[in-house]
Amino acid sequence: MSDGGPKGPRFPLRLDQVGGAPAAPRPMLRPQAPLQQAHADAVRRAAPSGLGLDSADVRRHMVQRLHAQGLQHEAVLAALDSVPRHLFVDAALATQAYEDTSLPIGHGQTISKPSVVGRMLELLMQGANARAGQSLGRALEIGTGCGYQAALLARLAKQVISIERLRPLHDKAREHLAALRLTQLRLVYGDGMRGHPPNAPYDSIIAAAGGEALPPAWLEQLAIGGRLVAPLQEPRTHRQVLVVVDRHEHGYAHSVHETVKFVPLKSGLGG
Ligand code: SAH
Repeated sequence: MSDGGPKGPRFPLRLDQVGGAPAAPRPMLRPQAPLQQAHADAVRRAAPSGLGLDSADVRRHMVQRLHAQGLQHEAVLAALDSVPRHLFVDAALATQAYEDTSLPIGHGQTISKPSVVGRMLELLMQGANARAGQSLGRALEIGTGCGYQAALLARLAKQVISIERLRPLHDKAREHLAALRLTQLRLVYGDGMRGHPPNAPYDSIIAAAGGEALPPAWLEQLAIGGRLVAPLQEPRTHRQVLVVVDRHEHGYAHSVHETVKFVPLKSGLGG
Protein backbone atom coordinates (compact mmCIF):
# COMPACT_ATOMS: atom_id res chain seq x y z
CA MET A 1 0.00 0.00 0.00
CA SER A 2 2.77 2.39 0.86
CA ASP A 3 6.42 2.24 -0.07
CA GLY A 4 9.18 3.14 2.31
CA GLY A 5 11.20 4.38 -0.69
CA PRO A 6 14.64 3.27 -1.82
CA LYS A 7 16.32 4.25 1.42
CA GLY A 8 13.62 2.63 3.53
CA PRO A 9 11.88 4.10 6.54
CA ARG A 10 13.62 6.30 9.06
CA PHE A 11 14.32 4.58 12.35
CA PRO A 12 12.22 4.09 14.31
CA LEU A 13 9.47 3.62 11.76
CA ARG A 14 6.35 5.53 12.73
CA LEU A 15 3.07 5.55 10.92
CA ASP A 16 3.03 9.33 10.72
CA GLN A 17 5.66 8.85 8.01
CA VAL A 18 2.98 7.12 5.97
CA GLY A 19 0.77 9.17 3.66
CA GLY A 20 -2.95 8.66 3.07
CA ALA A 21 -6.19 10.06 4.37
CA PRO A 22 -6.70 10.09 8.12
CA ALA A 23 -9.23 7.52 9.30
CA ALA A 24 -11.96 8.11 11.86
CA PRO A 25 -10.77 7.90 15.48
CA ARG A 26 -11.64 4.73 17.34
CA PRO A 27 -11.55 3.91 21.04
CA MET A 28 -8.27 2.63 22.40
CA LEU A 29 -7.72 -0.92 23.53
CA ARG A 30 -8.98 -1.53 27.03
CA PRO A 31 -6.55 -3.88 28.84
CA GLN A 32 -8.19 -7.06 30.07
CA ALA A 33 -8.38 -7.77 33.77
CA PRO A 34 -5.64 -10.05 35.08
CA LEU A 35 -6.68 -13.65 35.43
CA GLN A 36 -6.62 -15.43 38.77
CA GLN A 37 -3.93 -18.11 38.46
CA ALA A 38 -5.12 -20.84 40.75
CA HIS A 39 -5.73 -23.99 38.78
CA ALA A 40 -3.73 -27.15 38.97
CA ASP A 41 -1.85 -28.27 35.89
CA ALA A 42 -3.62 -31.59 35.79
CA VAL A 43 -6.98 -29.86 35.47
CA ARG A 44 -5.74 -27.36 32.93
CA ARG A 45 -4.35 -30.06 30.74
CA ALA A 46 -7.67 -31.84 30.48
CA ALA A 47 -9.58 -31.50 27.22
CA PRO A 48 -12.19 -28.73 27.29
CA SER A 49 -14.89 -29.99 29.59
CA GLY A 50 -18.57 -29.46 28.95
CA LEU A 51 -18.14 -29.79 25.22
CA GLY A 52 -18.40 -33.55 25.27
CA LEU A 53 -15.93 -33.76 22.41
CA ASP A 54 -12.37 -34.73 21.86
CA SER A 55 -10.29 -31.54 21.67
CA ALA A 56 -9.08 -32.51 18.18
CA ASP A 57 -12.67 -32.38 16.89
CA VAL A 58 -13.35 -29.02 18.47
CA ARG A 59 -10.09 -27.73 17.04
CA ARG A 60 -10.95 -29.03 13.57
CA HIS A 61 -14.21 -27.11 13.70
CA MET A 62 -12.32 -23.96 14.66
CA VAL A 63 -10.00 -24.43 11.68
CA GLN A 64 -12.96 -25.04 9.34
CA ARG A 65 -14.58 -21.81 10.54
CA LEU A 66 -11.36 -19.85 10.05
CA HIS A 67 -11.01 -21.32 6.56
CA ALA A 68 -14.61 -20.38 5.74
CA GLN A 69 -13.87 -16.83 6.95
CA GLY A 70 -11.01 -16.50 4.46
CA LEU A 71 -7.87 -18.00 5.98
CA GLN A 72 -6.31 -19.81 3.03
CA HIS A 73 -2.77 -20.87 3.76
CA GLU A 74 -2.61 -24.65 4.02
CA ALA A 75 0.41 -24.81 6.32
CA VAL A 76 -1.08 -22.21 8.66
CA LEU A 77 -4.38 -24.10 8.79
CA ALA A 78 -2.49 -27.34 9.47
CA ALA A 79 -0.53 -25.68 12.27
CA LEU A 80 -3.72 -24.34 13.87
CA ASP A 81 -5.19 -27.82 13.61
CA SER A 82 -2.23 -29.43 15.34
CA VAL A 83 -1.59 -27.18 18.35
CA PRO A 84 -3.92 -27.77 21.33
CA ARG A 85 -4.84 -24.16 22.28
CA HIS A 86 -6.64 -25.29 25.44
CA LEU A 87 -3.31 -26.36 26.97
CA PHE A 88 -2.15 -22.76 26.90
CA VAL A 89 -4.98 -21.18 28.87
CA ASP A 90 -6.34 -21.54 32.38
CA ALA A 91 -8.70 -24.47 33.03
CA ALA A 92 -11.58 -22.08 33.65
CA LEU A 93 -11.19 -20.80 30.08
CA ALA A 94 -10.55 -24.12 28.35
CA THR A 95 -14.11 -24.35 27.07
CA GLN A 96 -13.55 -21.06 25.22
CA ALA A 97 -10.17 -22.07 23.83
CA TYR A 98 -11.56 -22.91 20.38
CA GLU A 99 -13.83 -19.91 20.04
CA ASP A 100 -12.54 -17.00 18.01
CA THR A 101 -11.83 -14.87 21.01
CA SER A 102 -8.82 -13.42 22.79
CA LEU A 103 -8.38 -14.71 26.34
CA PRO A 104 -6.58 -13.43 29.43
CA ILE A 105 -3.34 -15.27 30.25
CA GLY A 106 -2.51 -13.46 33.47
CA HIS A 107 -0.38 -10.41 34.30
CA GLY A 108 -2.69 -8.18 32.28
CA GLN A 109 -1.79 -9.94 29.01
CA THR A 110 -3.94 -11.76 26.45
CA ILE A 111 -3.62 -14.55 23.95
CA SER A 112 -4.81 -13.21 20.58
CA LYS A 113 -7.89 -14.63 18.93
CA PRO A 114 -7.17 -17.49 16.51
CA SER A 115 -8.32 -15.53 13.45
CA VAL A 116 -5.78 -12.79 14.18
CA VAL A 117 -2.99 -15.28 14.89
CA GLY A 118 -3.86 -17.09 11.64
CA ARG A 119 -3.96 -13.85 9.67
CA MET A 120 -0.56 -12.71 10.96
CA LEU A 121 1.02 -16.10 10.23
CA GLU A 122 -0.49 -16.10 6.75
CA LEU A 123 0.94 -12.64 6.07
CA LEU A 124 4.29 -13.86 7.33
CA MET A 125 4.17 -16.97 5.12
CA GLN A 126 3.52 -14.75 2.11
CA GLY A 127 6.92 -13.05 2.57
CA ALA A 128 9.56 -13.64 -0.09
CA ASN A 129 11.95 -15.81 1.91
CA ALA A 130 9.07 -17.85 3.33
CA ARG A 131 7.55 -18.35 -0.14
CA ALA A 132 10.87 -19.47 -1.58
CA GLY A 133 11.71 -21.78 1.30
CA GLN A 134 8.14 -22.94 2.05
CA SER A 135 8.93 -22.13 5.66
CA LEU A 136 9.35 -19.10 7.89
CA GLY A 137 13.06 -19.95 8.03
CA ARG A 138 14.61 -18.40 11.10
CA ALA A 139 11.86 -16.63 13.00
CA LEU A 140 11.80 -14.19 15.91
CA GLU A 141 8.68 -13.69 18.03
CA ILE A 142 8.41 -10.75 20.40
CA GLY A 143 5.95 -11.53 23.21
CA THR A 144 5.90 -15.26 24.01
CA GLY A 145 2.94 -14.82 26.37
CA CYS A 146 1.49 -18.25 27.06
CA GLY A 147 3.53 -19.80 24.23
CA TYR A 148 0.65 -20.68 21.89
CA GLN A 149 1.80 -18.70 18.89
CA ALA A 150 5.38 -19.84 19.51
CA ALA A 151 4.17 -23.44 19.13
CA LEU A 152 2.50 -22.55 15.83
CA LEU A 153 5.64 -20.79 14.63
CA ALA A 154 7.69 -23.88 15.47
CA ARG A 155 5.46 -25.83 13.06
CA LEU A 156 6.13 -23.31 10.29
CA ALA A 157 9.77 -22.30 10.79
CA LYS A 158 13.16 -24.00 10.85
CA GLN A 159 14.15 -22.21 14.02
CA VAL A 160 12.19 -19.96 16.38
CA ILE A 161 13.42 -17.57 19.04
CA SER A 162 10.60 -16.25 21.20
CA ILE A 163 11.21 -13.45 23.72
CA GLU A 164 9.12 -12.50 26.73
CA ARG A 165 9.79 -9.64 29.19
CA LEU A 166 7.58 -10.95 32.02
CA ARG A 167 9.35 -13.73 33.92
CA PRO A 168 6.18 -15.52 35.17
CA LEU A 169 4.83 -15.76 31.62
CA HIS A 170 8.18 -16.89 30.26
CA ASP A 171 8.23 -19.66 32.91
CA LYS A 172 4.64 -20.62 32.26
CA ALA A 173 5.19 -20.80 28.50
CA ARG A 174 8.14 -23.11 29.13
CA GLU A 175 5.84 -25.41 31.11
CA HIS A 176 3.11 -25.33 28.46
CA LEU A 177 5.56 -26.09 25.68
CA ALA A 178 7.55 -28.82 27.43
CA ALA A 179 5.07 -31.56 26.48
CA LEU A 180 5.22 -30.60 22.80
CA ARG A 181 9.00 -31.14 22.64
CA LEU A 182 9.64 -28.54 19.98
CA THR A 183 13.40 -28.75 19.62
CA GLN A 184 13.54 -25.93 17.05
CA LEU A 185 12.00 -23.45 19.53
CA ARG A 186 14.02 -21.42 22.03
CA LEU A 187 12.41 -19.25 24.69
CA VAL A 188 14.33 -16.20 25.84
CA TYR A 189 13.58 -14.03 28.87
CA GLY A 190 14.48 -10.52 27.79
CA ASP A 191 13.41 -7.22 26.30
CA GLY A 192 12.23 -7.99 22.79
CA MET A 193 12.49 -4.35 21.79
CA ARG A 194 16.17 -5.10 21.31
CA GLY A 195 15.41 -8.11 19.14
CA HIS A 196 17.84 -10.96 19.71
CA PRO A 197 21.18 -10.17 18.03
CA PRO A 198 22.89 -13.56 18.59
CA ASN A 199 20.65 -15.31 16.05
CA ALA A 200 20.06 -12.43 13.64
CA PRO A 201 19.28 -11.98 10.81
CA TYR A 202 15.72 -13.35 10.84
CA ASP A 203 13.66 -14.31 7.80
CA SER A 204 10.50 -13.68 9.78
CA ILE A 205 9.75 -11.38 12.71
CA ILE A 206 6.37 -11.27 14.41
CA ALA A 207 5.33 -9.10 17.34
CA ALA A 208 2.41 -9.84 19.65
CA ALA A 209 2.50 -6.42 21.30
CA GLY A 210 2.27 -3.01 19.69
CA GLY A 211 3.83 0.39 20.24
CA GLU A 212 3.92 3.73 18.47
CA ALA A 213 7.02 2.86 16.48
CA LEU A 214 8.81 -0.25 15.31
CA PRO A 215 12.02 -0.63 17.30
CA PRO A 216 15.08 -0.08 15.08
CA ALA A 217 16.56 -3.40 16.25
CA TRP A 218 13.75 -5.33 14.55
CA LEU A 219 14.35 -3.67 11.20
CA GLU A 220 18.11 -4.07 11.52
CA GLN A 221 17.78 -7.76 12.40
CA LEU A 222 15.41 -8.54 9.53
CA ALA A 223 17.16 -10.51 6.75
CA ILE A 224 17.12 -9.29 3.16
CA GLY A 225 14.03 -10.92 1.65
CA GLY A 226 12.63 -11.22 5.16
CA ARG A 227 9.27 -10.02 6.41
CA LEU A 228 8.08 -8.48 9.67
CA VAL A 229 4.45 -8.42 10.83
CA ALA A 230 3.51 -6.29 13.84
CA PRO A 231 0.75 -4.19 15.36
CA LEU A 232 1.52 -0.48 15.31
CA GLN A 233 -0.37 2.54 16.57
CA GLU A 234 -1.38 5.22 14.09
CA PRO A 235 -0.43 8.52 15.69
CA ARG A 236 -3.33 10.58 14.35
CA THR A 237 -6.12 8.16 15.10
CA HIS A 238 -4.62 6.09 17.95
CA ARG A 239 -5.90 3.07 16.04
CA GLN A 240 -3.68 0.03 16.14
CA VAL A 241 -3.17 -1.52 12.72
CA LEU A 242 -1.25 -4.50 11.38
CA VAL A 243 1.89 -3.45 9.53
CA VAL A 244 3.94 -5.62 7.18
CA VAL A 245 7.55 -4.63 6.46
CA ASP A 246 9.58 -6.34 3.74
CA ARG A 247 13.32 -5.87 3.58
CA HIS A 248 14.80 -5.65 0.11
CA GLU A 249 18.41 -5.40 -0.92
CA HIS A 250 18.29 -1.62 -0.99
CA GLY A 251 15.72 -0.76 1.61
CA TYR A 252 12.35 -1.55 3.16
CA ALA A 253 8.76 -1.44 1.93
CA HIS A 254 5.76 -1.52 4.17
CA SER A 255 2.02 -1.95 3.91
CA VAL A 256 -0.74 -1.17 6.39
CA HIS A 257 -3.56 -3.64 7.02
CA GLU A 258 -6.59 -4.03 9.27
CA THR A 259 -7.25 -2.59 12.72
CA VAL A 260 -6.23 -4.86 15.61
CA LYS A 261 -6.14 -4.80 19.41
CA PHE A 262 -2.90 -5.95 20.97
CA VAL A 263 -1.44 -5.31 24.41
CA PRO A 264 1.21 -2.56 24.58
CA LEU A 265 4.83 -3.18 23.71
CA LYS A 266 6.85 -2.22 26.78
CA SER A 267 10.56 -1.70 27.19
CA GLY A 268 12.73 -3.30 29.85
CA LEU A 269 12.11 -6.40 31.90
CA GLY A 270 9.12 -7.15 34.10
CA GLY A 271 9.09 -9.34 37.20
N1 SAH B 1 1.92 -14.65 21.29
C1 SAH B 1 1.40 -14.62 22.62
C2 SAH B 1 0.63 -13.35 22.89
C3 SAH B 1 1.00 -12.77 24.20
S1 SAH B 1 0.44 -11.14 24.52
C4 SAH B 1 0.59 -15.86 22.93
O1 SAH B 1 0.41 -16.71 22.04
O2 SAH B 1 0.15 -16.01 24.07
C5 SAH B 1 1.90 -10.20 24.21
C6 SAH B 1 3.07 -10.44 25.09
O3 SAH B 1 4.08 -9.51 24.73
C7 SAH B 1 2.84 -10.24 26.58
O4 SAH B 1 3.11 -11.43 27.25
C8 SAH B 1 3.81 -9.13 26.97
O5 SAH B 1 4.39 -9.30 28.25
C9 SAH B 1 4.85 -9.26 25.87
N2 SAH B 1 5.70 -8.09 25.66
C10 SAH B 1 5.36 -6.77 25.65
N3 SAH B 1 6.45 -6.01 25.42
C11 SAH B 1 7.51 -6.87 25.28
C12 SAH B 1 8.91 -6.72 25.05
N4 SAH B 1 9.48 -5.51 24.92
N5 SAH B 1 9.68 -7.82 24.97
C13 SAH B 1 9.15 -9.06 25.11
N6 SAH B 1 7.84 -9.28 25.35
C14 SAH B 1 7.02 -8.20 25.43
